[in-house]
Amino acid sequence: MDLDRHDFQLDELVGRIKSNDHRLVALQVPEGLKMQALEMMDQIEDGSDAKVVLAADPCYGACDLVHDKMMAMGVELVAHMGHSQMNIDSGMPTQFIPVTYEGEPEIEPVLGILDRHRSLSMEKLEGTEPSQLSEEEAQDRFLDAVGRVSPLSDTRLGLVGSIQHLHLLPKYKEMLEKSGFEVTIPTGGDRLTFPGQVLGCNYSGDDSTIGHYLFLGSGDFHPIGMVLHTGKPLALLDPYTGDASEMSFSRIERILRQRFGLIMEIGKAETFGILIGEKPGQMRRNLAIRMKRILENHGKKGYLLALDHVSPDLIDFYPVDAFVNTACPRIAIDDSVRYEKPLVTPYELEVALGEKSWEHGYQFDEIP
Ligand code: SF4
Repeated sequence: MDLDRHDFQLDELVGRIKSNDHRLVALQVPEGLKMQALEMMDQIEDGSDAKVVLAADPCYGACDLVHDKMMAMGVELVAHMGHSQMNIDSGMPTQFIPVTYEGEPEIEPVLGILDRHRSLSMEKLEGTEPSQLSEEEAQDRFLDAVGRVSPLSDTRLGLVGSIQHLHLLPKYKEMLEKSGFEVTIPTGGDRLTFPGQVLGCNYSGDDSTIGHYLFLGSGDFHPIGMVLHTGKPLALLDPYTGDASEMSFSRIERILRQRFGLIMEIGKAETFGILIGEKPGQMRRNLAIRMKRILENHGKKGYLLALDHVSPDLIDFYPVDAFVNTACPRIAIDDSVRYEKPLVTPYELEVALGEKSWEHGYQFDEIP
């Protein structure tokens, strides 16, 4: 990672620590920044009278605040890096630091992809999709790939990004508009802090006026969730490399085939472990209890299992036939091959039990 081009806002953090005369502060950083954490701790301790504790457990999002544990340790302020505040009450002073990246990729490489995606969404809007598609055309139809029947009212370009790049969105909106696109920076629900923000578990800014998307960010974690959630074509522009690409049909189709397979498999299951996430922003107790009731109504058994981290070695050994996960939705989608037994989302369980049908397409498990 090119650290020199990231803004960690350590001066602001040190200023806050000094003005409040904090003596013990905690630093919580995502996995990608752990290697640099000790350097940051040195910088904070050199600039203030505070001692710094690193919350060294894995951290994948602002859903995973360590405040209770740190409060018990006497920590007065938590500095949480790389994520923004969610709709959960941490109960103690927190400095959320988004860690912005200054790189600004050229838009030219992505314009051709956006143009093609806009045509796809116009065909969808006008209902003029040709009945006979070539293999290549068929593979371009993301809407069909995710089987969604999401009516469009317009074909605007939705401009979104991961938190490190959100400051670029207004400027990129202008550039894309100059290139002939009608652009929306969508605003989502309470779990999202900034316009254009998306999380791996929340794409709530999506609406029927958006026909296709451009994501500013790297990796495929957010893009996979976006296409599963929205069913819309998605172009990608990576500010770290300048590369333009698109989320491929075959990638999403592979995931959906796997989900279909797991739904078929759990149809025969009689006993389930129902996972409840203990992390504050992942805890969906009511959903877990609803799953238990639904299982009971179908003459099946569900055991509620609460965990902080969900991993194969912590659950594989339970003598149940399958697991339904109400913690981070991405555990079932991204990691299910690591588990010995089927691991499904609540929606997938409902489909398997006949409570929901496939006819409206795959429904992404979103945490609102
Ligand atoms: S619940 Fe999962 S996807 Fe959502 S913010 Fe937390 S780690 Fe990310």
